[in-house]
Amino acid sequence: MTSKLSLWTVRPKPQPDELLSSWMVRAAEMSGQKLHSWCTDRWPGVQLWTRDLDLSAPPQIIADMTIRTAADPELARRTSLQAFEGVLHPAVDRSALARFIRPLGVYHRVRRGFGLWFCPACLSEDAKPYYRRTWRLVGFACCTRHGLVLVDRCPSCAAPVIPHRGGMIECHDCGTDLRTAECLIADASVLQLQHHCQRVLDGAPVQAAGLPDLHPMSFFALLNRLLMLMAAGPRRGRLLGTLDGLLAQPIIRHEEGVRKELRFLPPAVTHEAMRGVALLLRGWPYMFVGVMAEAGIWWSWATRDAKPNQLPFTYIEPVRRYLYTASAS
Ligand SMILES: [Zn+2]
Ligand SMILES: [Zn+2]
Repeated sequence: MTSKLSLWTVRPKPQPDELLSSWMVRAAEMSGQKLHSWCTDRWPGVQLWTRDLDLSAPPQIIADMTIRTAADPELARRTSLQAFEGVLHPAVDRSALARFIRPLGVYHRVRRGFGLWFCPACLSEDAKPYYRRTWRLVGFACCTRHGLVLVDRCPSCAAPVIPHRGGMIECHDCGTDLRTAECLIADASVLQLQHHCQRVLDGAPVQAAGLPDLHPMSFFALLNRLLMLMAAGPRRGRLLGTLDGLLAQPIIRHEEGVRKELRFLPPAVTHEAMRGVALLLRGWPYMFVGVMAEAGIWWSWATRDAKPNQLPFTYIEPVRRYLYTASAS
């Protein structure tokens, strides 16, 4: 159906960590056409921007982008969040969306949610600014390159970031340059943990003390569970109080901190929670067991918010082994 003759005149290559939607917006910008016309010319009759393209692009779109820009097929495949299947979660379906990927709140061509975050320093440094895959992932609160906490909204009007409406560097609503947003400095332990997570997403083995040869999906399931404990777990106040005694700086309690759904946690709240996760993971499971016992979060509390068979084995095993004391519960 497609041949070399159908290569587009302007052929931007995807960056190794770029989102599909970002790649498409850049391609349209470089062609000089408006995004809507650029898309209609290539895929007449296909409604592209009324869905979360990074999550559920029609396969033909990725195939066309690959062939007609002569892109590396593997790099092109990785622009879709579906590429995280089998690494982050068994399938990038509704349950993955609920636990590992932040939703955009798609409403026609608008986005009402704050699921796409960004690093202003990255956008400033990029020769051609683009949006990274990890800027959609639950628990990934930082830019490991610049050591900053990511930003989830326009610094002037607080609108969500919608590159397909406003372009890569401007707020779609008020035109403010997103690169002027101020960022918090990220904690070193969170940066270190996230750096490792990024390497695991790219295929490196899990290397954490006490977790040798752990499958990436088990690793991310454990992180997700610990993040939930920090954000909204049973006896959360006691847990934070115990951690405060072990951390150089106490964990900041944000008002919106207690939320049952991790995908809606804002960047600063996620970052604070990940400080606790990084500590709990240290020398797994002994730091975790010690902190939980000190906080009085024994078996029944540690499993109160979920059925044990729904909790990751890597979490439930030390809880059962070390925190199961009938008298203490
Ligand atoms: Zn950055
Ligand atoms: Zn704005």
